[in-house]
This record gives sequence, structure tokens and C-alpha cells, in this order.
Amino acid sequence: MTIATTRPFDVIVLGGGTMGSGAALALARRGQRVLVLEQFTTPSSMASHSGRTRIIRQAYFESPAYVPMVREADRLWVEIGAEVGQTLLHRCGGLDISAPGETQAESARESAVQWDVPYEWLDGAEVNRRWSQFHLPDDWSACYSPVTGFLDVEPGLTAMRSLAEGAGAVWHEHEPALDWQATPSGVTVTTGQGTYTADRLVVSAGAWAATALRGLGLPLTVRRKLLWWYEMGDRAAYMADRFPVLIAGMPGCQLYVIPISGDDPGLKAGDHAGGDETAADDLRRQIDDDEADSVTEAMRTLVHGVGAITDRQVCMYTMTPDEDFIVDRHPEYDNVTFAAGFSGHGFKFAPAMGEHLADLSSDPAARPIPHIALARLAQAVS
Ligand SMILES: Cc1cc2nc3c(=O)[nH]c(=O)nc-3n(C[C@H](O)[C@H](O)[C@H](O)COP(=O)(O)OP(=O)(O)OC[C@H]3O[C@@H](n4cnc5c(N)ncnc54)[C@H](O)[C@@H]3O)c2cc1C
Repeated sequence: MTIATTRPFDVIVLGGGTMGSGAALALARRGQRVLVLEQFTTPSSMASHSGRTRIIRQAYFESPAYVPMVREADRLWVEIGAEVGQTLLHRCGGLDISAPGETQAESARESAVQWDVPYEWLDGAEVNRRWSQFHLPDDWSACYSPVTGFLDVEPGLTAMRSLAEGAGAVWHEHEPALDWQATPSGVTVTTGQGTYTADRLVVSAGAWAATALRGLGLPLTVRRKLLWWYEMGDRAAYMADRFPVLIAGMPGCQLYVIPISGDDPGLKAGDHAGGDETAADDLRRQIDDDEADSVTEAMRTLVHGVGAITDRQVCMYTMTPDEDFIVDRHPEYDNVTFAAGFSGHGFKFAPAMGEHLADLSSDPAARPIPHIALARLAQAVS
């Protein structure tokens, strides 16, 4: 039986993952009464934030347009960490490197130059001299930025959630939203437990965005992605105080490597490219040994001392055609805002994206950011 709740909310956040936690925090801090509906838990290994750590970088190879927001996110992650008494952002520095003919390092340098992000331009031999853990071919290039680092995912989301709850947000876990309706005067969200009403809705459903935003026809595809942890002979040499983040554009793989942190089961690596298309509910969670082959080969090409695989994890990217996010108001309902299609690079933005979602949701004068607005997709198609 459906029970209509009498509890009044200003905003319902559908999906309490990465962006939902950021939005709930920003909205609750503005004095909004927030209800978060999450089908699993916050955080959850079933969503797109599984796998312990995420890279944060300002020499942004995807496009210089992201740099202002990533800087704001960086500042907020440090601030949130200070509020909860934890270091959430480990600033170990990072290398974007290119094999001859690849553009990874050059694209990172372009953003650094445009926005005055600190960086150094190195060749493979210089990288090997500075970090003896690497054996890069001499003719590779590297853009090293000392402000790159990585974030602890579960403590990061838990921190945003607890601060949001401290500001009055209400979190309902294990409560999937089954349907929602909007009219100019408000929104209604139905779950198996009840029907909730509010003035506004924020949809941040990650890999389930296409279902949650049915009718919008967003051009999203979900990809199955894998993460691997490798045993390293000298574990201490691969921790954040001695080893940088690495992203490598190389034939057959866009390898990324994140230093060992805390009780990590080893050095973490994955391939940013590729991944089988799937539906979120059909994701194959079993991982076969031979699925690591291209990542292991890339690791052994670049890094000394790569041992056996100690752990693995499955995750999902929700891709847009241009790999830029889609964050906007719903074209039919001004009181519905959504954030989707984070294309495998969204985590670092969460607190800043939360502020942007709160702006779009509660301030009629706020404008979408052009390169992640819905309108640019229509322009791209027309
Ligand atoms: C392997 C891998 C590596 C990555 N590396 C990086 C990196 O280094 N740096 C970086 O910045 N980003 C990285 N990313 C990307 C980043 O993790 C994602 O872009 C980000 O987590 C997406 O946030 P989201 O809020 O859209 O999705 P999620 O965090 O998955 O949140 C969506 C939430 O909505 C919930 N939900 C969906 N439907 C419903 C419903 N009907 N009712 C209730 N709840 C619902 C889901 O359960 C989920 O919790 C990586 C991603 C993967 C998979």
C-alpha cells in the first residue's frame, strides 16, 4: 500500500551517489529541506564510485573548460576534509605521459598553460631519473603537475553525507525511486515505501540516468569498467609520498595508475578506454583473469616491480557522445534539475557540481555551464 507522507521537503534528490551527495550538501547548507532517495547505500560498491580512490587533476586533458570547476572542487574537498578532520585529497603530483604519436601529455599541458596550472614538461629519461620506479622509453613525453592527487572515495562521500545530514538532510537508503511526476507547483516521487512531495527534484542517478530521466532520450551509453590492484615488491616505494599518479596515452591502452593508499591491496590500475556496453541492471559483475591482460602489459611496459593481481573491482562509466557531462534543468520542467553522463571523469567534481546543481535548482537566474549544458548536444546534432 502506498502511504502519502506529510513531511514537507523543498528538494528531493533522486540518487544518493557522488553527485547526489554533493547536491544534498550544497542544498542543505542553503537551508533547504532535502530528502535523498538511494536505491542501495551511500557509498555503495554497486554504483559508479566503487574502487577506493579517484584522481583529481587541474592540467585537464579532456578540455581547459573544466579547469575552473575542478579548482573549485579541489578547494571544497580540502575544506570538507578539514571539517571532518580527515585528509580526503592526497596531493602526490601526477604525470600525463604520451608515447610518440599520442596526445595525452600535450592535452594536459594545453589546460595548464591556459589556466596557469603549475606543470613541468619532461621526457621519458627525466621521468625515470626522478622516479626510479618507472622505466619509460626515452622518447616519451610527460606533463608533470604537482597539484594532481587522488581522493579517498568512501571517506569523501561519507563526509559529504554526514555534513549534509548535520545540516538537516534526510537520507533514505534501500529505497529506489520508481517514478516521478512534476507540475509547475511541485514534484512527486514514488517508491515502494511511499509517495514524497517537494517543490523541486534533482536527478543524479548515475548509470541509471536514462531510466530515471525517461522521456528525455539522453544519448547515454553505460560501459563495464574494471579496476585492478597489483602486488609491488617494495610497497613503500609506490605510496603517495614517493610515487605520482600516472595517466598514459599509449597504443592499445589509456592506462591510469593511482599510488597505494592506506590498506589498499596494491598499486591500482585501469584502462580509461574501452569497456563493453551494458545496461546498469545487467552489469556482469564476475571478472575473468584474462580481462587484465592489456592493463598488466601496459603496467609492465612502464613500471618496475609489477607483481601478481591482488584484487579487482567492476564499475560503470556512463558515456555521452562527446564525453562531456550533461548538467541542466529539464527542458519541460524548470523545477527538475539533472546531472548525468559523467563519462568516467566526474568524481573529482562532486562538491563543486553539488553547488552548481543547487544553483540551477534554487536560483532562477542561474545558467547552465555551456560545455556541459543540454543545448550543446542539440547543436551538435543539428
Ligand atoms: C573504474 C572507474 C574509474 C574512475 N576514475 C575516476 C577518476 O580517477 N577521477 C574522477 O574524477 N572520476 C573517475 N571516475 C568517474 C566517477 O567515479 C563517476 O563519474 C562518478 O562517480 C559518477 O557520479 P554519479 O553521481 O553520476 O553516479 P553514482 O556515484 O553511481 O551515483 C548514482 C546513484 O544513484 C542511485 N540511483 C540510481 N537510480 C536510482 C533510483 N531509481 N532510485 C534511487 N537511487 C537511484 C545509484 O544507486 C547511485 O548510488 C571513475 C569511474 C569508474 C567506474
